Amino acid sequence: MTLAIHGGTPVRATPWPSWPPPLDPAQRELVTKVLESGLWGATQGGSVVADLVDAFARRSGVQYGVAVGNATLGLFAALRGLGVGRGDEVIVPAYTFVASATAVLLAGATPVIADVDPADLHLSPDAVRAAISGRTAAIMPVHLAGSPAAMDPLNDLAARHGLAVVEDAAQAHGATYKDRPVGGLGDAGVYSFQASKAMTAGEGGLIVCRDESVHERVWSTCNLGRKLGGQWYGHPSVGWNLRLTEIQAALLLPWLDRLDEEIDRRNASCAAIERELAIVPEVSVPPRPDGTTRDSRHLLMLRVDPGVDREFLLTAMAAEGVPLDAGYPPLGTMNALTAEGARVEPCPAAEEAARTVVWVRQSMLMDPAGPADIAEALAKVLSGKPA
Ligand SMILES: *Cc1c(COP(=O)(O)O)cnc(C)c1O
Repeated sequence: MTLAIHGGTPVRATPWPSWPPPLDPAQRELVTKVLESGLWGATQGGSVVADLVDAFARRSGVQYGVAVGNATLGLFAALRGLGVGRGDEVIVPAYTFVASATAVLLAGATPVIADVDPADLHLSPDAVRAAISGRTAAIMPVHLAGSPAAMDPLNDLAARHGLAVVEDAAQAHGATYKDRPVGGLGDAGVYSFQASKAMTAGEGGLIVCRDESVHERVWSTCNLGRKLGGQWYGHPSVGWNLRLTEIQAALLLPWLDRLDEEIDRRNASCAAIERELAIVPEVSVPPRPDGTTRDSRHLLMLRVDPGVDREFLLTAMAAEGVPLDAGYPPLGTMNALTAEGARVEPCPAAEEAARTVVWVRQSMLMDPAGPADIAEALAKVLSGKPA
């Protein structure tokens, strides 16, 4: 069969579902109510942000939460609330979005970029152990693509060395590890509602935490250094306005009612893709860490044989109507981070991942016809690849 890149007929001509999905009636109703109320800000007496925070804290199995403008700022506020700052080091995985590291810089601390596990691509407990120094203050596991990180070994290490744990749950709304929700497994967890995420208000973020005093400090960081319940013009600490609006919260609160169904749908697609890929030996689905009970499948990461020309694969797949993404460069290769003082540990597994992993987008996992098209296009492109 002639590849579409060589003038053949593409596997898929129909467009993929849009992301975000169309507004549902509950979102439309709540957003309209907030707009008509005039209570758009977070400090005018509206209750939607507070309801969203409560719902997320409850779903994360903890008592407290703070809504923020985005997860980059949320990670910063979580670190600051845990007392991490100048002179401290924070260990982050090498295969993640750049914001995991830039949030550490924002807090005035030094990101230490450690390798991921070569199989599951999550922050490697062995690499963390090797990266710990006298200045290490925190570890930031990332629940990559909706797959929970290996939290038990990481929490054990943190406990042994007296380190804080901030979970970057930006991609993992609704995921569970050993039947416990991510976000509530460390000292603080941070979700993102940026436009590409599994729940979105265009932008937004939310921090959850268990400890009352951590909550007070995180809240103060996000509210100009005020004290919870204190004076409006009293600023006993230094803080910033990092707040989410009621309008954004009105898009998100109703979404929680359909999140589980959407996660189930993406999981069904991933299972179908994995079955269909049995006939494509060059492509495999990376295993998940022990203890994974629910992967929220923000994306599906696929491992491609190192012998495959990945640039050709990506171009040919796009021509077949199945565009895949190349994913992250390793954080340690980003000069902007090292120029700001980031310390880079050896990261061969992240470098290998950057060369051999491709991503299937979330919107494609929402289409029941997606798995067959994705597998057919992969089989076609890989059997027609140049010698
Ligand atoms: C999206 C993302 C962030 C940053 O979230 P924003 O809300 O865009 O600031 C941080 N970490 C990871 C892993 C992400 O995917």
